[in-house]
Amino acid sequence: MSIAEVLAVGTELLLGQVLDTNSQFLSDELARLGIDCYYHTTVGDNKRRVGNLLKTALSRSEIVITSGGLGPTPDDLTMECIAEVMGAEMVMDEKILEVIRSFFSERGIVMPENNEKQALRPSGADLLPNPTGTAPGIIWTITPERLKEAGIESVPELKSKNRYIMTFPGVPSELKNMWATTVVDFLQSKIVGAAIFSVELKHFGIGESALAEKYADLLAGRNPTVAPYAGNGECRLRVTGKSDDMANAREMVAPLVAAIQERSGNYCYGLDNSTLESVVGDLLKSQGLMISSAESCTGGLLSKRLTDVAGSSEYISLNVVTYSNQAKQSVLGVSEKILNEFGAVSPECAEAMARGVRKISGADIGIGITGVAGPSGGTEEKPVGLVYLGLAMGDTYVGKKLSLPARLGRTEIRHRTANEALNMVRLQLLERVNVNV
Ligand code: ATP
Ligand code: MG
Repeated sequence: MSIAEVLAVGTELLLGQVLDTNSQFLSDELARLGIDCYYHTTVGDNKRRVGNLLKTALSRSEIVITSGGLGPTPDDLTMECIAEVMGAEMVMDEKILEVIRSFFSERGIVMPENNEKQALRPSGADLLPNPTGTAPGIIWTITPERLKEAGIESVPELKSKNRYIMTFPGVPSELKNMWATTVVDFLQSKIVGAAIFSVELKHFGIGESALAEKYADLLAGRNPTVAPYAGNGECRLRVTGKSDDMANAREMVAPLVAAIQERSGNYCYGLDNSTLESVVGDLLKSQGLMISSAESCTGGLLSKRLTDVAGSSEYISLNVVTYSNQAKQSVLGVSEKILNEFGAVSPECAEAMARGVRKISGADIGIGITGVAGPSGGTEEKPVGLVYLGLAMGDTYVGKKLSLPARLGRTEIRHRTANEALNMVRLQLLERVNVNV
């Protein structure tokens, strides 16, 4: 197992202006490759501190990945720091200078002199191309002897190991692109020494510990490995196979993925990049159905999630946010009796909203959501986190009550409610398939 660490460089990260999503992405990818990431450090644009951190990182980790500080301005100093720490000169790459020049000339701009700096890299380091930006990075293989020469003391267990420095610009899209086009292959061939293939099985409606218990027999496996992860109100199982070549790795993973899908049944909603909304979209499309929704406490979040999916106009008819009682009445036709007798946060109101929006839109499915997202507005009888969902479809009506913990907070309560609503639609559509066959 190789050990990696991530250095996020940028004062904006320390000031809280930018969330460090690059470290999250890199760690997720490293885990996929079976590489252990032991440290994440964030440091401002300060030469001494970046230098010190680089020395520490090189002493204790084999793979040191930096993000940020590759730009043309004087505060972009990652490359200089690396050269200094390694006692290397900075050399100009004329080819890269040309690439950067043409990046500007293609846009009808003369390259500012500052940008010349981006064609400099420490002597001995290889280029890590950046197909979508001006600042390329480096991949630098450093032997144990070279590390010693630079005066960096290694931790005992890594004394005989090469080090690899990889630098990326801070811009997340550029970093991801460089990772996918060059680094994955490099890591697989040079470091992991194997092809690695992994598939994520996304689950909803089952907690991480229940999932881990259900698959306890598989979690001990060495190759392929099965590992559970939780977050965002859902759980994932990642199956990873390691082999000499990619075709083999895929073949090792496939039967296990199929077996887990079978065993998880409806808890498993999709693989890899699937989302609840994309899966719902696929089901609606394949069944030729239209959906409509009436939201109160989620304020349009369900609508947002549904319409996040490209091509969703094919199956979305009308989504409304009816926040006031008056809007629930005038737009959806929720009766005064329901509102007076049961209140806006009630199973009766959710049902009337679902049926109402279905009626006014003419869609096949109507969803109603009403609840208390908090933090205020809760009562003993109707506490924060109480939500009623309704789904009307043909002669079928399904209602669901959620009692989410108030401590989750408004954003999370709304997010989980939207998840539950999407899952409700998914289960209903799956049932429909089963009934029809
Ligand atoms: P540039 O050529 O754009 O200056 P750079 O390598 O110098 O690239 P930075 O200036 O450090 O990169 O960051 C550019 C932008 O990328 C930042 O303004 C920020 O929005 C985003 N960014 C930087 N670091 C991170 C990070 N760790 N996670 C997410 N976004 C980041
Ligand atoms: Mg910058």
